Amino acid sequence: MIIILKENPDKKQLENLTDWLKTMGLDIHYSQGTSTTIMGLIGDTSVVDTDLINALDIVENVKRITEPYKNANRKFHPFDTVVEVPLPDGGSVKIGGGNFQIIAGPCSVESEDQVCTIAMEVKEAGAGLCRGGAFKPRTSPYAFQGMREQGINLLLEAKKRSGLPVVTEVMDISHLPFFENVDVIQVGARNMQNFELLKELGHIGKPVLLKRGLSSTLRELLMSAEYVMAGGNRNVILCERGIRTFETATRNTLDLSAIPLLKEKTHLPVIVDPSHATGSAALVLPMSMAATAAGADGLMIEVHNDPEHALCDGAQSITPATFRDLVKSVKSIQPLAYKGGKP
Ligand code: PEP
Ligand code: MN
Repeated sequence: MIIILKENPDKKQLENLTDWLKTMGLDIHYSQGTSTTIMGLIGDTSVVDTDLINALDIVENVKRITEPYKNANRKFHPFDTVVEVPLPDGGSVKIGGGNFQIIAGPCSVESEDQVCTIAMEVKEAGAGLCRGGAFKPRTSPYAFQGMREQGINLLLEAKKRSGLPVVTEVMDISHLPFFENVDVIQVGARNMQNFELLKELGHIGKPVLLKRGLSSTLRELLMSAEYVMAGGNRNVILCERGIRTFETATRNTLDLSAIPLLKEKTHLPVIVDPSHATGSAALVLPMSMAATAAGADGLMIEVHNDPEHALCDGAQSITPATFRDLVKSVKSIQPLAYKGGKP
């Protein structure tokens, strides 16, 4: 349920309303705009008499939210969430609310030289964050499983040298101590509904990049974001990375309609990973342009300095030179991008 307050509500009346709602066991989330304040109520609101609240002097309107996700709901929080990734100089890299970011780097960290070279190259080309897998979710137990703890240390070395904050995937709660200096924690498609992991990430003070499951609906993705947010962590970035369909020409099918749909339903930033969505280096540029045009808040791109010899996902990895061209093409599209029907 949301309560939309009139402009400049009387402080005493607002305090009384807040106390009364709290006695019913409800949690209250405030969303402050330039002229309106929205109170979002979390908990069992079936006991709340909406007519009674509507009749109060300070109340403009009361609405029940029917969707099961509350914190992630745009009705609850109409303004775009800007996720901020802190930088050592006191600044931050911002994603969402008009801040477009590109996350780029190898599928997997393979060596210090590899990850540091790529990090410097993508930074030079305009990436805002560097990615690199250390704990890898592979279909085959015989495939390269990632460099694990050592991989994270090498990624942190790349962070030191390039100045780019880093994003890497966690697969298990027990590995979280290794992620202490990682800037953004990724939950991969295969773990989108690992609810215990999501609950744990609700208690950490770091942004979470949540990828859509291979066969998950948008509602399920939003419910997974809700798990993280319900624990108090509001810094969630959603990532469309393609879904399973009957098509075999591409690794997955990129669901471009997910971008405007998600942005209508949630205030969270939405980014797109055209690398895993298509599985093909040649399709990364056109799909990056399409995702940008459809209103994505950013992209996640796999870049490798020697794709042919990559230990993982070489076929979908682009070179630093191609990445430079991609950034230019994407930037040229940004002014024309769809902005949710707003002028
Ligand atoms: C990845 O980004 O490294 C990855 C494994 O992607 P996904 O979880 O989308 O398959
Ligand atoms: Mn990959």
